[in-house]
Amino acid sequence: MDLYSGYINKLIEQFSSLPGIGNKSAQRLAFHMVNMPKEQVEYFAKTIVEARNNVCYCEECYTLTDNKICPICANTKRDHSTIMVVENTRDLAAYEKTGKYKGIYHVLHGAISPMLGVGPSDIKLKELITRLQSDEVQEVIIATNSSLEGETTAMYISKLIKPTGIKVTRIASGVPVGGDLEYIDEVTLLRALEGRTEL
Ligand code: ZN
Repeated sequence: MDLYSGYINKLIEQFSSLPGIGNKSAQRLAFHMVNMPKEQVEYFAKTIVEARNNVCYCEECYTLTDNKICPICANTKRDHSTIMVVENTRDLAAYEKTGKYKGIYHVLHGAISPMLGVGPSDIKLKELITRLQSDEVQEVIIATNSSLEGETTAMYISKLIKPTGIKVTRIASGVPVGGDLEYIDEVTLLRALEGRTEL
């Protein structure tokens, strides 16, 4: 890699560390960046640092947000008695895009995976159980992915919640196995939501 300047090598290294960016793409991006106007590069760098410094977890649902409480949790018109449990903020966004779900969310930030060494305490599960102590909650809709990890997580959560007497439902399958919720069209998502069954 001594073919390039040390700075370019460092830049390639940083791009390569990102998910889905192989060495070739990293090189392309690095060369593109050193040829960009200086102001544009500075703005780009500033945007990354600002996002990292200012985005935080919503204190209620743990989605990524700019405020202490995200706009969905802060909205009194939403149905606060129904909580949909999703794996990440992108899944939340996918359901929000349908515009049909009126409840609130809980974002786990992952799924249980014994293979990858991700246990229940590595995701925001304790936080979900804490939220359920409020009398307001009447239904928990588990909308984790239909991957092995998503199903394991759904089963684990339902076992935890059942004794509390709160209704636990699971979105209908039909979402392809291992399929990321964010790539699924809105009609399929709505069908999965409407066809949810009690666990
Ligand atoms: Zn929230």
